[in-house]
Amino acid sequence: MGVQTVWVLGDQLNRRIGALAAATPSTHRVLLVESVAKLASKEWHVQRAHFVIASMRRFAEELRAEGFEVDYRRATSLADGHRLHVEQFRPSGVVVTEPLSWDGLALVRRLGCSLVRSNQFLCHYDDFASWKSTKKSFKMEDFYRWQRKRLGYLMEGDEPVGGQWNFDADNREPPPKDGSAPWPMPVVDVLDDLDTAVLDDIAQHTHGAQPHGLWATSRAGALRRLDHFVTDVLPMFGPHEDAMTTNSWHVAHSLLSPYLNIGLLLPDEVCDAVQRAFDDGRVAIASAEGFIRQVIGWREYVWGLYWAWMPEYAHVNELGANEPLPPVFTGRADTRMNCLSHVLAAVDSHAYAHHIQRLMVIGNLALIAGVDPRALTDWMWANFVDGAEWVMVPNVMGMSQFADGGRMATKPYASGGAYIDRMSDYCKGCAYDRTKRVGDDACPFTTLYWDFMARHEPRFGRNPRVAQQVRAAFKLKDLDEVRARAREVTVMLREGRL
Ligand code: FAD
Ligand code: SF4
Repeated sequence: MGVQTVWVLGDQLNRRIGALAAATPSTHRVLLVESVAKLASKEWHVQRAHFVIASMRRFAEELRAEGFEVDYRRATSLADGHRLHVEQFRPSGVVVTEPLSWDGLALVRRLGCSLVRSNQFLCHYDDFASWKSTKKSFKMEDFYRWQRKRLGYLMEGDEPVGGQWNFDADNREPPPKDGSAPWPMPVVDVLDDLDTAVLDDIAQHTHGAQPHGLWATSRAGALRRLDHFVTDVLPMFGPHEDAMTTNSWHVAHSLLSPYLNIGLLLPDEVCDAVQRAFDDGRVAIASAEGFIRQVIGWREYVWGLYWAWMPEYAHVNELGANEPLPPVFTGRADTRMNCLSHVLAAVDSHAYAHHIQRLMVIGNLALIAGVDPRALTDWMWANFVDGAEWVMVPNVMGMSQFADGGRMATKPYASGGAYIDRMSDYCKGCAYDRTKRVGDDACPFTTLYWDFMARHEPRFGRNPRVAQQVRAAFKLKDLDEVRARAREVTVMLREGRL
């Protein structure tokens, strides 16, 4: 039998993944395709495009160093790259690990590639579907406990270490009021000739601050960042998971999602490192549990839901939200909203915002202002270094925009300025007043929040988790003025005057 080709997609960059795990230089050649169509498909943040392409090129170099023949092609499209490879090399077959996207899977099936089951997640989507089929109603917390028991993280026999599954009550602290926390600085590398070549190739299709070595583009770099996180940052992760501060764009977050999402790190090795730190007494249970819940719970849950609900899920819009993407998101306008301005500045500088900034600042504003959820998803996908369809559709359309009518989240993540003030120091330096809902200096979050509750009374009036807020909206003596101000604020947001 002749040499087979393993086609490695740009988010499968790990020797342990699927088809590549069993490959050897004497039996397999490797194909990687850089698609020009994909690069031209969105207005990418330069750090996002650089991260993926530089990582692909470095991975190709590593495979060559191991003795593989690697066909690294720049082609007009993935399909074209595959066709040209087959014409040139006539492989005995092309084998691919199951792609991470719905369209990717359809493509490789259409091209007649053989598929190898993906091991890039700890719960394959078929196993998730079997778990889900045994439940009348299902929740992330149930899935998470099932994963803990199955995988054995932080377990003593069948019981959770520390006697409880969830230490959220110990977390959720705001940032220290005096701004004193010494948030450890991220690891940074020096860029090299490969980076320069990539930046030249992508310049035409990208925007945002140039890469400065923050995001690793090799496995060795990703492993260094994992080590830094576990040693220096993890002890602070739990308590400050939801905190937002003007002093630090990253607070105590891991910054590991990009590596997990393209394969430079795998979820088991990340959780194993955290388990070891806990076993050695280097980190408290609240931080270890909080982090492991994000990775084996939330991350794998949204992965399973993506496959369970696609392809319709990518286009849901149950709240009928049709406002265009505000120009402030694309840098075509400034804003006097201190919270938004800080978060968008971090996105421009690092192609990153942490979870609470994504959910309670960007997502919250889009939700209560009625922005088209698909436009928001596409913008986040192009601008976040860790963007991918499987993770954005459930998180953005489902959790953050309630566009699925509550299939994923049982209540909308809507809040006024009070929540942002509690969890951050943003409101102190803001031109708006978070306690006001009417008037020129009323906080846009507060105004839009009450308007959102009143506007969606038919949907949320009977939802036990939100009905109280809906009733409170109708008790406001100035509700008519709030609604009038909300209309003004929506127009100002649309026109970039907020
Ligand atoms: P940490 O706070 O350090 O968390 C640890 C890890 O847990 C992350 O690296 C990530 O792998 C995982 N994780 C935690 N929550 C989730 C979740 N809800 N879904 C999936 N993984 C999770 N995550 C992405 O990977 N890519 C995205 O494009 C993305 N877009 C999002 C958009 C919105 C509106 C929301 C609400 C969430 C989004 N998330 C996304 C989930 C989460 O916000 C990011 O994974 C996290 O902020 C990444 O930063 P970190 O690695 O520092 O995370
Ligand atoms: Fe944001 Fe409102 Fe606070 Fe200003 S007052 S920072 S707009 S929440």
